[in-house]
Amino acid sequence: MTDAILVINAGSSSLKFAIYPDAVGPPVAILRGKIAGIGSAPVFTVKNGAGRALPQDDFPQLEKSIGLNDLVPILLDWIKAHSEGITITAAGHRVVHGGPHRDGPARVTQALLADLEALVPLAPMHQPHNLAAIRCVAATAPDLAQVACFDTSFHRTQNRLGQIFALPRKLTDEGILRYGFHGLSYEYIASILPQYLGHMATGRVIVAHLGNGASMCAMKNLRSVATSMGFTALDGLMMGRRCGTLDPGVVLFLMQHKGLTAQEIETLLYEQSGLFGVSGVSNDMVVLEASDDACAKEAIELFCYRAARELAALATDMGGVDAIVFTAGIGENSARVRRMICERLEWLGVDLDLAANELGASRIASEASSVDILVIATNEEAVIASATRSLTQKL
Ligand code: AMP
Repeated sequence: MTDAILVINAGSSSLKFAIYPDAVGPPVAILRGKIAGIGSAPVFTVKNGAGRALPQDDFPQLEKSIGLNDLVPILLDWIKAHSEGITITAAGHRVVHGGPHRDGPARVTQALLADLEALVPLAPMHQPHNLAAIRCVAATAPDLAQVACFDTSFHRTQNRLGQIFALPRKLTDEGILRYGFHGLSYEYIASILPQYLGHMATGRVIVAHLGNGASMCAMKNLRSVATSMGFTALDGLMMGRRCGTLDPGVVLFLMQHKGLTAQEIETLLYEQSGLFGVSGVSNDMVVLEASDDACAKEAIELFCYRAARELAALATDMGGVDAIVFTAGIGENSARVRRMICERLEWLGVDLDLAANELGASRIASEASSVDILVIATNEEAVIASATRSLTQKL
């Protein structure tokens, strides 16, 4: 029997899972899968560790309206039936918000759940689903140890100026702070960066996590110095459907002069903006890159323009930049986006090797570039698996 760790990343409409051996060494998944379309038309897919799709015909037919509470027991049953020789010993969860002080993962207890519940208003689109998954696992497998890994934790090394807004002090004291997100992705990149950069990994590095959600993190000594996301995961870069940095006056105008409710504005800023809103075509970069539509082209240009500005601002936090890392769906796969961002940063000494960039090489700076440029696939699940293993290990 091999002991294994179940990693769960539960969102509003999808649940991603992976199984990692509970063993020493870099975590390599045995199985990974996804239930997409929760709440509309759920679809289950699963791949083995090598990325080969596995048959899933024996996964029960799912009702369209099935929710997370009913899905988790079905999934756990399926995993049990399909993991011959494997015993799941612990579950690790991605939890978006850990609050102002939590700087690492934590074992799940009733007290922790109550603390995390209180943070729901700070991450209303993600936190409730993350916590619901933990509760469902606890209800289905009460003896399974569970660990929560937070997207905010990595940024707790930032100095105070990076974390506060220019708001009345009372609000800062109440926790209206720049928390930052995507920390599990940055932690993974920080863990693997020495393999690419040797001792230079401790220099001034900016990681661009460009996916459907997008942010950047300035790192020195492999720790977060500053980041583009703030109080919520809305701030900073333009994203697939989220607007990124926005003049707060726009929100006031929408309320006072266009009569939009808070709920309508939330939907507008989280769901109808970003690449989707500007293009009017799609939130998906693959679709936009293939489109001849002028608005799709403008959406890509705005995405890159805003990314370059944010990167330059983060370089100011560190007094320069020695290396840039592109990661996540767009960062790892779009040569066009990487080129358009780097072109705007030539004044910083950034010079792309165009051929290496097109080929999708992992090092894409030219010989003349004074800034190293890397493309590294992120792996948030591996970070969760490692953290879960170390917090649940019987010594
Ligand atoms: P993620 O949220 O990290 O899964 O990233 C999703 C984003 O990556 C979507 O906008 C995808 O269109 C984009 N993406 C994935 N593959 C490619 C590709 N080959 N070229 C451009 N964008 C891509």
